[in-house]
Amino acid sequence: MSTATAFRRTKIIFTLGPATESEEMLEQLIRAGADIVRLNMAHAKHDWTRTVIRRIRAVSARVERDVAIMMDIKGPEIRTGDVEVPIELRAGEIFDFTVRPGMSVGDGGGDEEVRSVGVNYQDLAKDINLGDTVLVDNGLLRLEVLEKNEARIRCRVLVPGELKSRRHINLPGVKVNLPSFTEKDRADALVGLEEGIDFLALSFVRAAEDIVRLRSFLTEQKSKVRIIAKIEDQSAIANLDEIVQACDGLMVARGDLGIECPLEDLPVIQRRAVRTCLAQGRPVIVATHMLESMIAQPVPTRAEITDVANAVYELADCVMLSGETTIGKYPLACVQTLDLIARRIEREVDADWREPAAFNGERMKVLGSAVVLANELPRSKLLTFTRHGFMAQGLALLRPTHAPILAFTPFPEVFRQLRLLRAVEPFLMPLAPDPNDTIENAIALLRRMGRIIPGDKIVVATDILAQDRLIDSVQLRTVY
Ligand code: PEP
Repeated sequence: MSTATAFRRTKIIFTLGPATESEEMLEQLIRAGADIVRLNMAHAKHDWTRTVIRRIRAVSARVERDVAIMMDIKGPEIRTGDVEVPIELRAGEIFDFTVRPGMSVGDGGGDEEVRSVGVNYQDLAKDINLGDTVLVDNGLLRLEVLEKNEARIRCRVLVPGELKSRRHINLPGVKVNLPSFTEKDRADALVGLEEGIDFLALSFVRAAEDIVRLRSFLTEQKSKVRIIAKIEDQSAIANLDEIVQACDGLMVARGDLGIECPLEDLPVIQRRAVRTCLAQGRPVIVATHMLESMIAQPVPTRAEITDVANAVYELADCVMLSGETTIGKYPLACVQTLDLIARRIEREVDADWREPAAFNGERMKVLGSAVVLANELPRSKLLTFTRHGFMAQGLALLRPTHAPILAFTPFPEVFRQLRLLRAVEPFLMPLAPDPNDTIENAIALLRRMGRIIPGDKIVVATDILAQDRLIDSVQLRTVY
């Protein structure tokens, strides 16, 4: 298996869990080239969250490879309540979801002979309609709504199975009126901000205003954390353009999408989401079930290899692991497998990709000319300097064919956020008052690191001082 020494353009995110939370495993995964660690707050306690964030930072410092941390907050989620013993639902059985457990039959409550389970959302009966589908436990159980009243929703079981405690409910096509940023999300996010996370991923984003609300919370907290919008249902697909515009990055959360949307639509949605992000200049993550079989087996299925390859062919910024690294038996092999497939496919991709909208604005035209130049020169490298990450993001959006984007920033948090972007290799370095000195310092550092060698062509996209004014420029330098 290959290691992280040579350059990989596609970034790797893994989700932390019991299989990967030890210092030893974290060290192995960071050394193997993981770029971002995801904390799934659906399953995390605050003490654990603080402990692992500090551990990730400590291990990163020790191995001298700073990874970014993404906190994934669970957003609006409907769940069934506790059951003493699992209920075996039979095909055709009539079954109730109880939303107001205290109400008696006369008040429109449940029926003695009909079995039931509680649900954590009191207004569910208002949102749902007769004939709607209720999916439970990742879509394993399927029911159809027959009747409803204030107290309960009566269904017929279509696809039977075992119902255990606190199972996730999906309601395809139903507009649920739960808040997008819940009290739990707020409490989780505050812990993340205190501990210095880099990204906040919001689950079940349905419209741009969900992002706007989260952004105003972050502004109140004086935080520069970047927002990743997780698209997981049909509302998100209907509002895709405005969501992409409002967020700092998009996650194609295929786990829930595959339940909320017709399964045959999933590849179409993925492709459309990636293209929309490319057109609007936002980074995009393809997530979930990429190497699902490797939870239990040391090698992926042939279909999984092709799925990962497709995300790379589509020019996604990141691929993401979930169960594979939280509870899987082979987390290190999973990261190595993504690394191996990404590097191989990147050699095939002719990423001379052009989206006219991406060239809007003068600065993008300057960056575009830098990328055209780099694409035409063998052994080229793009070099840029960035205070907020936008120069690097602009270059990454243009998907240079072979040149890495060597992005220098003076700020550790921007450095870590650059880990999200395709083909960007971040470097931390103070910027000198004169931009020319900054370029010289960066080249000297790259030379010392062996990242550039004589004969390499460096295309510099930066601002320079000209008669006391900063102007955007493109320079071509040869390494001697
Ligand atoms: C998904 O549904 O694909 C996903 C990434 O979200 P979660 O793991 O939070 O369910």
